Amino acid sequence: SEESNMIVAVRVRPLNAQECNRQQVTNVVQVHGNSNELTVQAGSSADASAGVTHFFSYDQVYYSCDPEKKNYAGQAKVFEGTAGPLIETAFDGYNACLFAYGQTGSGKSYSMMGIEALDDAALDGGPPHDEAGIIPRFCHELFRRIEAVKAEQQLQVEVEVSYFEIYNEKIHDLLSVQHATSSSVDSTPVQHQRPALKVREHPIFGPYVVDLTATASTAMNDKSSRSHSIFNIVLNLTDLSTDDGLTSDTDSESTASLRQTRRSKISLVDLAGSERISVSGSNGERIREGVSINKSLLTLGKVIAALADGRKAGGGNGPSTPSTFVPYRESVLTWLLRHSITE
Ligand code: ADP
Ligand code: MG
Repeated sequence: SEESNMIVAVRVRPLNAQECNRQQVTNVVQVHGNSNELTVQAGSSADASAGVTHFFSYDQVYYSCDPEKKNYAGQAKVFEGTAGPLIETAFDGYNACLFAYGQTGSGKSYSMMGIEALDDAALDGGPPHDEAGIIPRFCHELFRRIEAVKAEQQLQVEVEVSYFEIYNEKIHDLLSVQHATSSSVDSTPVQHQRPALKVREHPIFGPYVVDLTATASTAMNDKSSRSHSIFNIVLNLTDLSTDDGLTSDTDSESTASLRQTRRSKISLVDLAGSERISVSGSNGERIREGVSINKSLLTLGKVIAALADGRKAGGGNGPSTPSTFVPYRESVLTWLLRHSITE
């Protein structure tokens, strides 16, 4: 809504080959032109509810089924409407979070990461491949913007990147190469078991993951439907211009101490499948898995609900009132991201 700093976008993906082959499967979701509404046709022809049409309205709706249609939204369009504006947000010094939410197979990873380019050209900083998702597009666009800004202003820019997953409430580095080296004697592949990392709290910058690397780039997310993967980009901007009138003497050390660094963090999150909220199995491992996935997803839901309630209680557009309890600490995901999802 207009007063909110939270935006909900829905993307409708095409039926996949398996769904097309099953004859009873039809696409019941309709998007009308470029509107922000979609309709869902309820029930099969045999149902009593058949023919009932439900209307849903969101901040943004992306129709991604038929590239021939005028309102078709491919990867570039989805990026431009969702994560693209967060580059300005970062330059303005604000934090932001983008979550891909939906059940397994709904297109979260396709939207966030996309399909990898099969040629090496994409690795040389060229323009994103058509099927590249939000994360590679965000990185490409961020560096393009940094170059443009640096051409106009004396600015020192530092970018930090981390990429990790939360699985069973434990954190695993997705950029570490340690697990990729094998020295086993037999030909059995080594278990690519990444060590769990610790979360600590920095007095100024808040929570961070200890021993997280940001060097290698080849380790792939195992695309587990049970884990959350988080791609963080931290942007540090220091104004190097000295014509601000504050530094008339030429003491470079005092100049440096007056310089302000603006720091912002953008988190791009591919959440575990939403069906995991209700998963519970018969053996211990699966139950534990289900329960802890419940924890991060359920807590995220509770946190967002509490923030929304707080806004309402505070008259609709101020920060949450102190009386609203926001349970950030109840899961690793919400605790790590709380500086980006608070107001
Ligand atoms: P999730 O991460 O939510 O489990 P995926 O992103 O892996 O789902 O998508 C499931 C399948 O559907 C993948 O093969 C993916 O390439 C395909 N897919 C998803 N969204 C789209 C889209 N908008 N256009 C074309 N194919 C898509
Ligand atoms: Mg996925």
